Amino acid sequence: MNDTSKSVTPTNFIRQIIESEIADGRHTDGIVTRFPPEPNGYLHIGHAKSMCLNFGLAEDFAGRCFLRFDDTNPDKESPEYVESIKTDVRWLGFNWEDRLTHASDYFPQLYDWAVELIENGKAFICSLSAEEIRASRGTLTEPGSDSPYRIRSVAENLELFEKMRAGDFPDGSHVLRAKIDMAAPNIHMRDPAIYRIRHSPHHNTGNRWCIYPMYGFTHPLSDAIEGVTHSLCTLEFEDQRPFYDWVLDNVTISKRPRQIEFSRMSLDYSIMSKRLLTMLVDENCVSGWDDPRMPTLSGLRRRGYTPRAIRNFCTRIGVTKNEQQIEASVLENCVREDLDKNAPRVFAVMNPLKLVIENYPQDRVEQFDAFNHPNNPEMGSRQIPFCRELYIDRQDFMEEAPKKFFRLAPGREVRLRYAYFITCTSVIRNSEGQISELRCSYDPESRGGHAPDGRKVKGTLHWVSAQHALDAEVRQYDRLFQDANPLSDRSKDFLELINPDSKAVITNSKVEPGLISATTGKSFQFERVGYFCVDPESTPSHLVFNRTVELRDSWGKKNRP
Ligand code: ATP
Ligand code: MG
Repeated sequence: MNDTSKSVTPTNFIRQIIESEIADGRHTDGIVTRFPPEPNGYLHIGHAKSMCLNFGLAEDFAGRCFLRFDDTNPDKESPEYVESIKTDVRWLGFNWEDRLTHASDYFPQLYDWAVELIENGKAFICSLSAEEIRASRGTLTEPGSDSPYRIRSVAENLELFEKMRAGDFPDGSHVLRAKIDMAAPNIHMRDPAIYRIRHSPHHNTGNRWCIYPMYGFTHPLSDAIEGVTHSLCTLEFEDQRPFYDWVLDNVTISKRPRQIEFSRMSLDYSIMSKRLLTMLVDENCVSGWDDPRMPTLSGLRRRGYTPRAIRNFCTRIGVTKNEQQIEASVLENCVREDLDKNAPRVFAVMNPLKLVIENYPQDRVEQFDAFNHPNNPEMGSRQIPFCRELYIDRQDFMEEAPKKFFRLAPGREVRLRYAYFITCTSVIRNSEGQISELRCSYDPESRGGHAPDGRKVKGTLHWVSAQHALDAEVRQYDRLFQDANPLSDRSKDFLELINPDSKAVITNSKVEPGLISATTGKSFQFERVGYFCVDPESTPSHLVFNRTVELRDSWGKKNRP
């Protein structure tokens, strides 16, 4: 575990199973789990749930967790995905130590086990086409029918399998199938394929293999090789558990894993499938896998989410077998809570309006001390420059202000935080009639933001010095989809449900000068505005910030009408 300490994990049904097994004297060598992504895309927040569960159990029960690339499909997998997955697992705070494996590491052993099945009459080479196999599989109510090749002799099967491996046959001409029962009520038990021919190079094994084992055969045996005690997967694999167990029952293994299923997590206004996320990237609906609107871990990181916030989120949603559709606000609250505690405060003006203090000396510059955090003195303070010309946010001024508008208006007095009381004396307009500048006066007696006569003002505004402020580009994000469940209506293309207002860019914001040295990924609270972080595209001459999440309750918001 890295920097980010974690809260105590509440119990769940899987922990209870493990605890009762340990109470029965089992798992004396510790439990073993695995996180088994297929490297066919970047990891998303759903995978974070699986990682927190698998790595979390290993930590809490003094066990071990493998990071295993489930790489049996060479056509869809790539080294780019492998690298991104490693980066994301580490970033989330998990350490696989020396337990980085690939299903493809086990291809030789898997091949031997397939031969063992053939030798025992438990598998056969089927030469039907893919369509013929599908057509003979039957339905939920009808049994399937036996392949005519089911009666091939062991010797013939062994010879054909060897030739498949040697590359003698084209793709799709033969498959190796388990010989179980074509009338089994569970379709997964109707002689499933366990090896297929695919003349494609593999990102890990190159051209060494032209036959690849199927997921259903590979997974239980990879678990057995690694000594996995609890193979935790999502509920759609429940129907495959009988085949998982069949494989383990029919080859020679020394350690037997157990499969336990839990429900997948879905997030409102989002999608959670690498296949569909790949479409968003390929169709240029987003700027890439790390677009800050994406539910990927790389997108959330670029958006300013912290590993701690994501892990707290996973703790909060828990692990059950019940459907898990989570409101977007649950995730947003987790990052807001974390940043509220840990992000330094700074002044930034999103929509600048110039303000000139007419009775303030032309050349004077004062430095005011500003707290980096209102309730954490350990985070220290910084100096911010103040001078005659400032910027405030346009939203903080109203010409015809109602009584309850506790910000600036002609003739009204407000506090500039940390600085002085000012009163608006006049409004300047440009040739189009728009307000271009405010003229004010200040009370020199109110230095530090307190009047010696004890007079109060209702509004406190943030500001930046016009002479010292830096220009910044600020990217604000909203939910990626317009629909809470973009996949619910199958007649609609989910790509058409993308929220056209999900990204808005402000190019002329003004931020306090200290931000010039802020490094990529660093998070801040822009006081009274929200939480922001430095985008990787940011440079000292062109600062770029991403809005992570809005503020909900801020000291400024209380004062808004
Ligand atoms: P995807 O459709 O996004 O590719 P997957 O399940 O095919 O999902 P894998 O790479 O096989 O993706 O996932 C690795 C692990 O993460 C698996 O154990 C899987 O069950 C788990 N996982 C994937 N998505 C979720 C989710 N939304 N909630 C919880 N666990 C998930
Ligand atoms: Mg998948």
